[in-house]
Amino acid sequence: TERALAVAVGELSNVSIAGRSAIRGHGGQATAIIELFDAIKGSLRGFHDEADVARAAGHRSDLAHVVLPFGHMIWHLPGPISAPLASFLRSVLSIAPATVVVATSGTAEADHEVARTMRIAGIEFPPSNPALLSPPLADHIISVTDADDEVRAVLREVIQLVAQGTPLDRIGIFHPVPDPYVRILEQQFAAANIPANGPSRRRLGETIAGRVLMGALALPSDRWRRDRVIALVNSGPLRHDDKPARPAVWDMLSRYAGVVGGLKDWRTKLQGELHRIQIAENEAAEAGNNSGVKRMIDQRADTEDLAAFVDTLAQGVAAVDSSVGWPARAEAATQLLHGLLGGPQLRGWWPEAELSAFEQVESALERLAMLDEIEPEPSMAVFLRALSSELSVARGRSGRFGNGVVYGPLASAPGQDLDAVFILGCTEGLCPAARREDVLLADSVRKLAGGDLPLRLGQIDEQHRLFLAALAAAPTGNRWLLFPRGDLRSSRRARPSRWLLPTASALEGKPLYATDFEDESPSSIYEVASHADALVQASHFASVDERDIAQVFAYVQDGGDPGEHPTSELVERGLRVQLARRSSAFTEFDGNIAGFGAGAGGDVMSASRLEMWATCGFRYFLSYVLGLSERDDPEHTVELSALDRGSAMHDVLERFMREQVQAGPPAPDEPWSTAQRARAQEIATESFAEYERRGRTGRRIEWETQKSDLLALIDDFLTSDDQYRLEHSSTPAHLELAFGMASTDPLEIALDDGRSLQFRGMIDRVDEGPHGNKRIVDYKTGSGTQYKGLAAEDDPTRQGTLLQLGLYAEAASAQLGASGVSSEYWMVNTSAGFARFGYPWTPSHRDRLIDVLTTIADGIEAGVFAAIPGDWQSFRNTYDNCAYCDFAGVCPRDRAEHADEKADAPELAVRVALVPKPNPEPDTASNLGTTSNLGTTGNPATTSGGVTGGRT
Ligand code: SF4
Repeated sequence: TERALAVAVGELSNVSIAGRSAIRGHGGQATAIIELFDAIKGSLRGFHDEADVARAAGHRSDLAHVVLPFGHMIWHLPGPISAPLASFLRSVLSIAPATVVVATSGTAEADHEVARTMRIAGIEFPPSNPALLSPPLADHIISVTDADDEVRAVLREVIQLVAQGTPLDRIGIFHPVPDPYVRILEQQFAAANIPANGPSRRRLGETIAGRVLMGALALPSDRWRRDRVIALVNSGPLRHDDKPARPAVWDMLSRYAGVVGGLKDWRTKLQGELHRIQIAENEAAEAGNNSGVKRMIDQRADTEDLAAFVDTLAQGVAAVDSSVGWPARAEAATQLLHGLLGGPQLRGWWPEAELSAFEQVESALERLAMLDEIEPEPSMAVFLRALSSELSVARGRSGRFGNGVVYGPLASAPGQDLDAVFILGCTEGLCPAARREDVLLADSVRKLAGGDLPLRLGQIDEQHRLFLAALAAAPTGNRWLLFPRGDLRSSRRARPSRWLLPTASALEGKPLYATDFEDESPSSIYEVASHADALVQASHFASVDERDIAQVFAYVQDGGDPGEHPTSELVERGLRVQLARRSSAFTEFDGNIAGFGAGAGGDVMSASRLEMWATCGFRYFLSYVLGLSERDDPEHTVELSALDRGSAMHDVLERFMREQVQAGPPAPDEPWSTAQRARAQEIATESFAEYERRGRTGRRIEWETQKSDLLALIDDFLTSDDQYRLEHSSTPAHLELAFGMASTDPLEIALDDGRSLQFRGMIDRVDEGPHGNKRIVDYKTGSGTQYKGLAAEDDPTRQGTLLQLGLYAEAASAQLGASGVSSEYWMVNTSAGFARFGYPWTPSHRDRLIDVLTTIADGIEAGVFAAIPGDWQSFRNTYDNCAYCDFAGVCPRDRAEHADEKADAPELAVRVALVPKPNPEPDTASNLGTTSNLGTTGNPATTSGGVTGGRT
C-alpha cells in the first residue's frame, strides 16, 4: 500500500493544477487521493521532485542564456515522458537549434504515447504510414515447455551464433518481466560459462552490508533470540575486537550454555558457563590433565569473546535506538555497520559488487540523515521502515556492461544495435501483460487529468512499442521469439502472444490464430516437446553438463547402464546409491559395512546401546559408529523435554532417597512423614531451578504449570513408595549403584563361545527384602505401555530391545552377592498408576540374555546395521521405531519399502536369532533355584495388555 501510494503521489506531481482540480471534483476516492497528495506535498515543503524542477527550469527567465552555450541539441529516440518534462523540453527546443530523432514502429497504437510526448514538446509527429513502414517481424519462433527451457533454447542458439562468428556482445535477450527470467538467465549463463550482463535483481538488503545492518537492528524485536544472533554472525564477515567472529564456535557455545534469548539471558547463561569452565579447569589442573586445562582455557577465551561481542552489539543497537533525529540515528547506524564489518582496510578482499553495495548502504543512511525537516524525531520503527524501504531496491548490474551477451527488460531495447535478438515470454499475460486497473487512480480518473496522466490501457500499447523496438534491434534473419507453452510451477497452459501471431502467420504462409497452437504447434514453429526431447534433437548444447546428460540419455536408450557411462563418473555414486537402496541386496548404502571393523570389541557398553542395535541397526550405526546426534536448539524449547523430565525426576528421587537412607532407611511399614515429604519438595525446587538456569524449561507460562504438576507427582510417588515397601516388606538399601562407571568395575558377561562383553550402567535403586533378596528398580517417567505384558512373556529381552533389567540383575548379583534378585521398571507417572513391569531374574532368563547378547555381538561384528523402521503408526505419522529417532530426517522417506525389499538378504539372517525359539520347559518352582522367594512382580492390573510405544 505504501509503495502504491508513493507511485500515485509521484504521478500526481506531473499533473497540472487544473488537472488535479478536475480529479478532486470527481468525488469519492479521487477526492481523497488529491487531499492526501496535498497533505503530503504540504509536509514536504522545501523538497522538490522532478516535476517541480522541470517546471521551474522551464520558466527560468534566463533559460536561453543557460541553454545556448550547449550548441546544437539532439534528442535521440524520445520515449513517453511526464508532461512537466515534455513542457521543459518544449521550452529548450524553442530556443536552441535542435534535431529530434524519433523512432516509430509502424503501428499507430504502439506509437501513441510517443506521439503524446511529441505533442506536448511541440514537435510535429507524422502519423504512421503502414504503406511506408510495416512493423518488424521475427524470423524464428521456438515453442518450449517453460521459462527454464526458454533460456536453454536461447543458449543453444547463442552457441551456434558464436560458432558462426557473431560476437557475444552483439547478441541481446529481452524479457517482459524480471521474474523468473533474470534469475534463470544469471544461473544458466553462469553454468554454461558464457559471459553475460544485465540489471541485477539483488536488493541492497540482500548484500552483506544490508543484511548485517538490518539483522542487527532487528534483534530487539526478535528479543535477542539465540538463533537470530547467530544468524547475524553468520550473515557476513563480522569482526569483534579486531578479530574475525567465530560463528560455528559461538553457535556451539551458546547452545551448550542453554541461551534462549533476551540480553539478560545471554549475560546470565554465559556467566554461568564461564563459572562452569573455571571449575572444570581447576579440576583438570588438580588431576594434572594439561590438555584438559588447555581446552578449558580456550573455551573460556571463546566464551568471553562471545559475551563481549553480544555486549558491544547491544550497545551499538541501543545507540541507534536512543539517538534523536534522523542525522543522529543514521550516524549511529553507520557506526554500528562499521563496528560489525570493520574499516575499509579489512574489506579489501571483498568482491567488487559487495564493496559497491557497502557504499550504497552508507549513501542510503546519508539520505535518511537529510529527512529531519520532514519529521524531526522519527521513532525507531519509522527509522527502520525508511531504511528497509531504501534497502529493498534492486540496484547494480550482474556482469560488466559490454562483456558478453546483454540481457534486460524490453524497456532497455530501444536504440540497441545488435546482430541477433531473442525475446522471451511471448505469451498472453506476459507480453502483452495482463491489464490491471490502478486501484488508486483508475483510468476513468486519469482521463480527467487533461492528458497529464497516461492511461493504464495505454501501457499495453507502450509494451507493444518496446516489443517491436526489441525486434528491430537486430537485422532480419536473426530475430527469435520464444513461446513457453506452460508454467511448470503453476501447471497452467499459456496462450501464444497476439504479437507473435503476425510472425507465425508469415512463417506459415497463411493467417494463424492462438487456437492453432492448442494441440501442437504449427509446422513452421520449432517445437521442443520436453527437455529430454531437446537433448535428443540438439546438435549443440547449452552447457557441458547438458551435453553429458544427452550422451548418457542416448546410452540408456540403447540399453546401457547409466552408472557405466564414462560421463557418469561424477554422479556415479549417487546413481549407485539410489539403485542399491531399491534393490533386494543388503549393500553398503543400507548399513552393510562388513569388513570395516565396526565391532564394539573392547568397548564398555550401556544396555541402551545394544538395545538400539536390536531395535534399528542403522540408528546404532549413525549414533555409535559415526557418532552423530541431533543438535539441541534451546530457543525452540517450549517446555521441559521428556528426556530432561526423566533426568530431573531421577535427580530428585536419588537425592531424596540418599539423604533418607543415610539418615536411617525407613522401615517397610513406615510411611513418609510430612517433614520428609516437604524435604522432597525442597530438593525438587532446587533441582528445577538448575534446569531453569540452563534454559531447559522452555516458556515460563508452560513451565510454571509443568513444575507444579511435577511437584505433585513427587508427592504422589512417595505414597506409591509407602505401598511398595509395605507390600514387599522391603526398604531402599542402595542408590545409583554404579558398574563400569565412577571407578567401579564393569559388568563382564561371558558368552558361550568364549567372547566376553563389558557393560556399564547405574542402577537407580536396590531395595532389600526380609530374606536378603534384592529388588532392583529403574525409574521411568513415560506411560510404560511398551512394557506391558513383559512379566508373562517367554523372552525377558523382548527380542533384544529390553536388556536393561537383565543386565542390572546381573550387575547387582555380581556386586551385592545377592542370591535372589528381581528387576523392574517403575513408572513415576500418575496416569500410568505408578505401575511396575519386570520379573524375577531366573537361570532361563539369563540363558536367553546370553543368547541375545551373542546375536547382537555377532551382528555388530559382522557389520550388519540394517534399518528397521517398524510398522507405520498413523497416529504419529511415522514408523514405530522412528518416532523419537534423531535421524528421521536423514533416512529415506521410502525406508520401509527398502527394508521390506531386503528382508530376505542372507546377511540379515543374524537378526533372526533375536526371535526366541519356543521354550520347551518353562521355569517352575523346582528350576527357579534361589529366586523362588521373590514374591510377585508388579501390579497384575498394570502388567497386562500388549500395546507398544511410549518413551521415557
Ligand atoms: S529413522 Fe527409523 S529407520 Fe532411520 S535410523 Fe531412525 S529408527 Fe532407523
